[in-house]
Amino acid sequence: MEIFNACTYCGSDQLVRGPRGGACANVFCIRCGAKFNVVLQPGMSVVLVDTLTGPNTVLAKLFRMAENRTQEFDCIECGRHIVMVCGPPTSRCAACQAMPGWFRDPELARIIDPDRARESRDG
Ligand SMILES: [Zn+2]
Ligand SMILES: [Zn+2]
Repeated sequence: MEIFNACTYCGSDQLVRGPRGGACANVFCIRCGAKFNVVLQPGMSVVLVDTLTGPNTVLAKLFRMAENRTQEFDCIECGRHIVMVCGPPTSRCAACQAMPGWFRDPELARIIDPDRARESRDG
């Protein structure tokens, strides 16, 4: 039994799980597009059953496109560093879109950004 925690082709641990059928699932490597069949043992590791396809540049490209939808930016309103996994392109964080100026309100700031509220109090 082979524990499967990284792509056997490129060594990447960036793996995504496809549709699952019973204990079996397909797993794709984001970096090279290889496809594997694995068994998910309850409470245990993922075990490699079979390599379905080797590196696949088309698949890998699709995964990278999906990955590129991730947005990382500093909110132009509150300046917080934001990582968004999906959603329309934006330069404001969700908090600023829903409650513009929340960071000027000490009560809201403590709830939404407790780390910074603590920092500014200590410093
Ligand atoms: Zn790979
Ligand atoms: Zn913001």
